[in-house]
Amino acid sequence: MDISLPYCNSLTKYSRLKTREVMIGNIAIGGNNPIRVQSMTVTNTMDTDATVDESIRMIKAGCELVRITAPSIKEARNLQSIKDELYIRGYDVPLIADIHFTPNAAEIAAQIVEKVRINPGNYTDRKQFKVAEYTDSAYQEEIERIRHRFVPLIRICKRNKTAIRIGVNHGSLSDRIMSRYGDTPLGMVESGMEFVRICEKEKFYNIVLSMKSSNPVVMVYANRLLAAKMMESGRIYPIHIGVTEAGEGEDGRIKSAIGIGTLLEDGIGDTIRVSLTEKPENEIPVAKTIVQRYTDRKSHKSIGILDHQIVNPFEFKRKISTILNNVGGENPPRIIIDFSRINNISKKDLTSIGYKYSNDKWHISDQAADFIFVGDQLNNYELPSGLAIIQNAEVWQNSNNSFPLFKSDDYFQTNRKKSKILNFVTINSSDIDPDNFKKIKTDNTMVLILETENKHGMAEQRRFIFELIKNEISVPIIIKRNYSRLDTKQLLIDSSIDIGALLIDGLIDGIWLESNQSPEFINKTSFGILQATRSRITKTEYISCPSCGRTQFDLPEVTAQIRKETEHLKGVIIGIMGCIVNGPGEMADADYGYVGTGSGSIALYKGQEVVMKNIVAKDAVKALINLIKEHGDWIDK
Ligand code: SF4
Repeated sequence: MDISLPYCNSLTKYSRLKTREVMIGNIAIGGNNPIRVQSMTVTNTMDTDATVDESIRMIKAGCELVRITAPSIKEARNLQSIKDELYIRGYDVPLIADIHFTPNAAEIAAQIVEKVRINPGNYTDRKQFKVAEYTDSAYQEEIERIRHRFVPLIRICKRNKTAIRIGVNHGSLSDRIMSRYGDTPLGMVESGMEFVRICEKEKFYNIVLSMKSSNPVVMVYANRLLAAKMMESGRIYPIHIGVTEAGEGEDGRIKSAIGIGTLLEDGIGDTIRVSLTEKPENEIPVAKTIVQRYTDRKSHKSIGILDHQIVNPFEFKRKISTILNNVGGENPPRIIIDFSRINNISKKDLTSIGYKYSNDKWHISDQAADFIFVGDQLNNYELPSGLAIIQNAEVWQNSNNSFPLFKSDDYFQTNRKKSKILNFVTINSSDIDPDNFKKIKTDNTMVLILETENKHGMAEQRRFIFELIKNEISVPIIIKRNYSRLDTKQLLIDSSIDIGALLIDGLIDGIWLESNQSPEFINKTSFGILQATRSRITKTEYISCPSCGRTQFDLPEVTAQIRKETEHLKGVIIGIMGCIVNGPGEMADADYGYVGTGSGSIALYKGQEVVMKNIVAKDAVKALINLIKEHGDWIDK
C-alpha cells in the first residue's frame, strides 16, 4: 500500500472532505451539509405502533434519519404503514430500510422509503465460510452474478429517487472477498467498490458508503482507505461512519467516540451512528456531543504544515520508542493520575485507582494506575510497589520510585538536579524548536509530556510526533490534555477522541488526563480508552449488537447478566448477538458467542464455530460459563 496516498484534505488544517451531495428524502448528506445523526429502531418491524412510537422518541432526541430492519418481504411492505403513520403524526423524517440477504425485500422497500442499506457481504451471497481459490474468470463470473441480481434494485432506486447505502461490515465479508483479500481493510473497501462500480455503470450516483467494524482500529483504517481510493478516482461519495456492536455504558461510548471521532478529526464522515446496546434514543445525545466538537473547528489556531504522511495510515504499527524504566518500548501505554489537589493522600485514594490494602499488604488490580502526580507535595507516602510518584522538579528529592517533572525551558536551560533514570518534561506541541530537538535526541532519560491548547489539539500533537519521527527521535511520549472545565459526559467523549486517535496510529506511550473529576473516573476512563484501542487489555471485551427487529430476547438485560458473571475474565472477548442471521459474522473477533436463534432459543459459539444449539434462554448464561470453563479461559473471582 502506498502510504503517501492522501486520505483527507489536510493532516493539520481542519477541513471536511468534500463529498458528492446525496438527497435522502428531504435531507441532504455530504457536500457542504452538516454531519447528520442517525440511529436504528430495535422494535419488531411488523409492530407498526411500537416502531412509530420508538421512531418519534428518536426524532425528538435529534435523530435525522431513522433506519428500520426489513429482514423479509412482509417487513419491507410494512414500512409503508410505518411511514404513513409517522406522516399522520406529523413526522416526515427520511426512513432507511436495513437489508441483509433478501434482494426481494430491498426492491419493495426501495419503492417506499428514502434509502436502502444493503450489505455487499451478504446481499446475494449466503456465507459458507469456505476458503476457495478463485481464478480471475471465476471471480469475474461471481461479480457478473451479483450485477445481475443488483441491477434491478438500482433501477428501482433510480425511478423512485431512492438512495442506496453500500454498508460493508468487517465481520460479514463474502467468502469471495475473504479468499482474495482476507478480512482486511482492503477487503472491506474492495467489497464496497465492486458494488459502486456496478452502480456507476448504471449511471446511478445516489450512493452512500460505510465501512464498519466492532474494532475501532480496523474501522478507522478501512474508512481512511475508502476515502483515499475515492479521492484517487475523483468520485467521492458521502461516508456514513460508526463502530458496530460497540456495547453499552461507558465502554460503548468510548469505543464509538474513538472510531467516529478519529475520522471526523481528519474531516472524514458525513453521517454518523453511535451504536449502543441501549435504547436507540440514548445514542443520539452521544452522537450530537461528538458532532458538536466540529461545528467551530475551522477557527483553530494554525498548525505548521505537514507535507506528507509520516506513518502508514492504513495499517497499524506502533511507533518505536526508547525504553526508559517502565515507559516506552514494548511497555503498554502508561497512565498518570493527578493527585496534586489531594492533601494527605490516603489508602482510600489509592484504592480508587486500582490498589487495595488488606492483610498488611497492597494488592494490585489489572486497572491500577502507573504514576501519580503529586505536584509540590513531599514524598512521604507508603506506596504499593508498581506505583511511582511524579513531583515538581523544584521539590523533587531523588527518593526511591519518585521522578521529577520539569517544564521544557527549565529542563533545557538550568542545571537543576535531574534523575539519572527518568525525567518527565512538559512541552507544548506548538513548540517545534530544532535546538530543543537536538537536545531531546541525545538525552536518554527523558519522557516528553506533550501538551496543547489548540482547538485542533490532536492534529497539533500528531504533527509534533511526526516531526520527532522525521528527526529520528525515539523519546517516549505521554499525552497530557486538560479537561478541567468538562463534565463527565463531555470528558469521556473528548478524551476518547483526542487520545484514542493517537493510539489508533500507535504513536504514544502514555496518558495523563487533567480534570476536576474523581481520580476513580479518570483512571477508569484512561483504561477504557486503552482497552478500546487494544493498546492495553485489562478487562473482558464485549461485542454486543444494539439489537433490532430481529432480536427475540431482552438483549440489554442478558448483556448485563453476562457482564456480571464474566467481567473478571481479562482479555476474553464475548459476543452477544440478537440474531443468527448477522450475529456470527458481526462478532468475528469474539472468543465466545451468545447468539439468539429464534423465540427463546440460543446458540453458543466458540470462535466462529457453533458448538451448542437450541439452548433454552433461561439456561444459556450458565451454559456459556460452562463453555468458557471447558476451554480453560475461566478463573474464579
Ligand atoms: S446482529 Fe443484532 S442488530 Fe444485527 S441484525 Fe441481528 S439482531 Fe439486529
